[in-house]
Amino acid sequence: MLLKDLSLICAVIAFSSVASAATATTKAKAAAPAPSPSPSQAVPAPIIPLPPFNGTFANPYPPQFTIAATNTPLVAQWLKELNMTAVPNFPVVPFTAGGDPSNPKAIPADACDWTETNCINKDIIQCPKGVWGLTYDDGPTEFSEQLYNALDKTDQKATLFYIGSNVLQNWQAARRACGAGHQIAVHTWSHHPSTSLTNEQFVAEIKYTELAIKELCGFTPTYFRPPYGDIDNRIRGLLTQMGYTSVIWDLDTNDWMMAPGGQRTMAQVDQAFDQWIAAAPKDTTGHICLEHELYQNTVDAAIANLPRLQQTWKTMPVSACVNDPHPYKEHNITLATMNGAVAGVNNNPNSTTGTNTTGGSNTTVPTTAGKKNTAATLTTAGLSTLLAVVVMALSHL
Ligand SMILES: [Zn+2]
Repeated sequence: MLLKDLSLICAVIAFSSVASAATATTKAKAAAPAPSPSPSQAVPAPIIPLPPFNGTFANPYPPQFTIAATNTPLVAQWLKELNMTAVPNFPVVPFTAGGDPSNPKAIPADACDWTETNCINKDIIQCPKGVWGLTYDDGPTEFSEQLYNALDKTDQKATLFYIGSNVLQNWQAARRACGAGHQIAVHTWSHHPSTSLTNEQFVAEIKYTELAIKELCGFTPTYFRPPYGDIDNRIRGLLTQMGYTSVIWDLDTNDWMMAPGGQRTMAQVDQAFDQWIAAAPKDTTGHICLEHELYQNTVDAAIANLPRLQQTWKTMPVSACVNDPHPYKEHNITLATMNGAVAGVNNNPNSTTGTNTTGGSNTTVPTTAGKKNTAATLTTAGLSTLLAVVVMALSHL
């Protein structure tokens, strides 16, 4: 069976379980909020300074894990900012209650639907040869701190595709990841298939998630991963209007089929990594792999397999492997890249010197565990950032 077929089947299963289970979970936690999990190790001081946050989100957000409503002043304002006439006019794809496209054969070929045809159009699906794009979806969750602890042990950064509803639910973990210099990206508000949403619904799903991250972390993501990889040219057109780059994947651990999402075992996930590692010497490209911080099992699998990924590839966030030092709309924030950009925040974009106020002398965020970037490999953007590691005071963000 082809990978894409497996992905679709798993996506359908995951959609059903996530949609129903998540709703139930949200309701349960609303009645009796769970305490934030205590990290089992000291959390390093933030490298990207964060704005003050008192635990209460100021903006009005949709109910968690429900499709974001469009009849709100905020959505009206966001829609006004977009040129909707530039968005390709492909039909909304009807889905069954089980999360399956009702009539996949009716999807036009020129819609370039990835789930049905693996069609790519400007989407990022791989990193360069020798590089492994580390991505974890569906967070932040109650299990995220364990993953972030493991990443911190080797100063490893990753791309985290966040669900807006989960950002509200597990904001402490999100704050930690934002400050640590991980690449934070958007994975919709309610985790429904993108092509099943109207233009207005999709805009609302992105923008509410973006707003929550901005409120919590002070920056605005520009990378997006479609739930289930469900994307077509209509969705891509909306993403372009909102300033987003879409990221899919070329390798899938299918970890989201682990319990309680399904029957996949740790051994099966390990075997998938075994095969990719064995094939690595003959690779002609690098990879972007789909993993999740969704369940205890997926986090366990991620932590267990991280060291051997680091031994086989240069492991880094997606923005790093495509050498984008500015994966947020706030270009005074820089994240590390493969070709040497150094993470930091510049309070004055025209300044070339400054003072690090985060309490440490090293504000570099290495993209690869154990391999610090050096000035010798800096790009123009990286060099200017290195010289201008002026870390903002919290009140400035
Ligand atoms: Zn997802």
